Amino acid sequence: LPAARDRLRVAIQKSGRLSEPARALLTSCGLSWRESRDRLFCYGESLPVDLLLVRDDDIPGLIADGVCDLGIVGRNVLAEQLLQRSNGGADKYREWRALDFGACRLDIAVPDGWEWDGPAQLRGKRIATSYPALLGAWLREQAIEAEVVPLSGSVEIAPRLGQADAICDLVSSGATLAANQLKPVLTLLKSEAVLAGPATPFSDVREELAALLLRRLDGVLRLKDSKLLLFQAQRHTVPALLKLLPDAEPPTMLQVDGGDTLALQALCHGAMTWQRLEDLKHAGARGLMVLPVERMLA
Ligand code: ATP
Ligand code: MG
Repeated sequence: LPAARDRLRVAIQKSGRLSEPARALLTSCGLSWRESRDRLFCYGESLPVDLLLVRDDDIPGLIADGVCDLGIVGRNVLAEQLLQRSNGGADKYREWRALDFGACRLDIAVPDGWEWDGPAQLRGKRIATSYPALLGAWLREQAIEAEVVPLSGSVEIAPRLGQADAICDLVSSGATLAANQLKPVLTLLKSEAVLAGPATPFSDVREELAALLLRRLDGVLRLKDSKLLLFQAQRHTVPALLKLLPDAEPPTMLQVDGGDTLALQALCHGAMTWQRLEDLKHAGARGLMVLPVERMLA
């Protein structure tokens, strides 16, 4: 068992796509750090939660070994390493929360010129990837015999270089694929940044720290697009108005000066666009106001 500790250690990517959003997310949970010079370790000031800045690939292993308690990493990296470790260590950590940034897909892509007619077309082909475990597992599941060509980077040029016939790589906009005359044909995994943590509870004060962090994280994630909507309406228009607010929490309603007019306030979780406000006004809402929600503790 890892030694008891009285501080929580969270690993995030040092530099790359996930580093800024991960830090911003933790900051919005009320964490702050005293920056150390080498910036590999940041000492938590507002709470005993320290940061370790590392390569994303190292994060699952650091958690499995108990060097770090939690980590923010792409589901793609976590899933790949869970499969690679399936003979030891994989049972030590798991995905705790999806974090709603860093979205991408692990796709199979083939040359533009192929007329795609299904996975069977990959039989006997060479597929280059940085995700050999995920690809291998998928091929086995599909009962397709193909050669997995593991590459650590620049996977998308492998077909042009003659190293492979197809690739299995991360895709977000698809621009990189298009620039390399490839097209995505299948998605193996839908990914985003996740909070990873141990599969079993901590046996010391870290358990309470982790619970506090999760509680704040859930508040922040829930509020992402949330706004407080205020308006007035005649009582008989309320059912139609609520139909226009399927993403709202049950509203608070107050009667205005004993009459038929109600003042409503509702927490809405979807984006509150001008078009939605126009629709509400058309259905009878008056004095519409959209207010930001800064914090929430359920
Ligand atoms: P490191 O130096 O930490 O190993 P890296 O080059 O492996 O960095 P990045 O390219 O910064 O990693 O990507 C980190 C994560 O961002 C990916 O694992 C993935 O979850 C996510 N991501 C989102 N969109 C994309 C994309 N288009 N291509 C690659 N990764 C993406
Ligand atoms: Mg990496």
